[in-house]
Amino acid sequence: MPVSGLGDYDSNNVFARILRGEIPCREVLRNRFALAFHDIAPRAPVHVLVIPTGPYVSLADFSAHAAEGEIAGFWRAVGEVAKSLKLEAPGYRILANTGFDAHQEVPHFHVHIFGGRPLGPMLVEM
Ligand code: AMP
Repeated sequence: MPVSGLGDYDSNNVFARILRGEIPCREVLRNRFALAFHDIAPRAPVHVLVIPTGPYVSLADFSAHAAEGEIAGFWRAVGEVAKSLKLEAPGYRILANTGFDAHQEVPHFHVHIFGGRPLGPMLVEM
C-alpha cells in the first residue's frame, strides 16, 4: 500500500530495519552514505534500490536536511551502482516514488535503478 502522507521518519520502516541488519538483503554496495540492494519483487531483469544511510522520508527531506557529504556520497553511490551493474552502455532508468500519488510504499527515501531490457516509455499513457 502506498503511504498516505509523509510525516516524521518511522525508524521501524523496512529499509531502516535492513540498514540495522534486522532484515537480510541482497547487497550490491554499502558505504558510509548509501546502501544498494536488489529489490525483493523485481520489475525488470535488474532492479536495485539505493537508499541513504540517514533517516529521510523523501527527496525533499534528504535535500533539505542531509549534509553536503551525505548528498554527494549518496548520488555517487547511485552512479557507481549503475556502472558496476554494467548498465551504462545499454541504458537504465532511475526513479524515486514520492508520496501517495507516486505510490511510495516505503517511507525511507530511495532510488530504484531499472535495467537489463528495453524499458519502454517513461509512463503508461494517460
Ligand atoms: P516504493 O513503492 O518506491 O516505495 O518501492 C518500495 C520497493 O521496496 C518495492 O519495489 C518493494 O518490492 C521493495 N521492497 C520492500 N521490502 C523489501 C525488502 N525487504 N527487500 C528488498 N526490497 C523490498
